[in-house]
Amino acid sequence: MAEAKDAKRYRFDGERVLHLADLDTDGGVSREDRDRIEAETKTLQEKICAMQDRLYADGREGVILILQAIDAAGKDSTVKHVMSGVNPQGVDVYSFKTPNTEELAHDFLWRVNRCIPERGKIAIFNRSYYEDVLVVRLRELNKTYKMPERCTGKKTSEFFDERYADIVNYEKYLFHNGYRVVKIFLNVSKKEQKKRFLERIEVPEKNWKFNAGDLDDRDVWDKYHEIYEMAINHTASAVAPWYVLPADRKWYTRYLVSQILLKTLEDIDPRYPKLDEAARMGLADCRRRLESEGKKKDAEPAK
Ligand code: AMP
Ligand code: MG
Repeated sequence: MAEAKDAKRYRFDGERVLHLADLDTDGGVSREDRDRIEAETKTLQEKICAMQDRLYADGREGVILILQAIDAAGKDSTVKHVMSGVNPQGVDVYSFKTPNTEELAHDFLWRVNRCIPERGKIAIFNRSYYEDVLVVRLRELNKTYKMPERCTGKKTSEFFDERYADIVNYEKYLFHNGYRVVKIFLNVSKKEQKKRFLERIEVPEKNWKFNAGDLDDRDVWDKYHEIYEMAINHTASAVAPWYVLPADRKWYTRYLVSQILLKTLEDIDPRYPKLDEAARMGLADCRRRLESEGKKKDAEPAK
């Protein structure tokens, strides 16, 4: 049986350089490990649930969990899984699609900044501002932007180096404002993506998930992964680390995501608010009122 590797192995916080080709996409686990891993995931989820309750009550820090990946890597099912273990009241989920005209008329962080949750909550971003240094770079969409020549006329590397720096600063800004940003890249193999695409084509209930355009991104697999690698290496930091997770086995990915979310919550160490003396006395007073209500009723003569 393969040893279950810790999510830490997949962490990139600026201390080392990511070479995607060196990382595994299956986690080194096999089918025999599944039951045990799923049981461990359940335990992690219960702990996350308890921690989330405290995070919400505490209300001092917020968490932003970013999911990035190519198509069929499992972003949607990861969101579903994270959501299944937590109180929906404390979680917001946002999906970032192709920007609309209003969004395109603003700076690239505009639409995301409107989705930053209030402190005490967890926000899950299904895609994010990282698309602005990923698909935009892949498709050279920056050249089509309605912006002045000093922006669109720049060399590609200069344009994106500036965006990386803006992202790093934005994530620092969020940290300074009481947020933890955790970024996950679901690293799926080309072989597994093909299998999942074929399933989407063959299974009628999955047809809606398939988009012929997804094959265009598959055609430029190496280039896209190179762009991912650059973006991750330029934006990995201690305050906003990246986790490049093996995504060929969804049950293992979920285990790792649960580990990461729990670790983030543990680092925050949220506490239930402690009442001051006056508030405690107020509670004692309320208790007396409630108890005397019962006594009064008991004391009433039976009719
Ligand atoms: P999906 O999440 O598969 O439904 O697709 C959403 C699509 O929106 C993907 O093809 C993304 O690449 C695209 N998208 C998301 N953000 C941006 C962006 N900032 N610029 C261009 N395309 C984007
Ligand atoms: Mg898609």
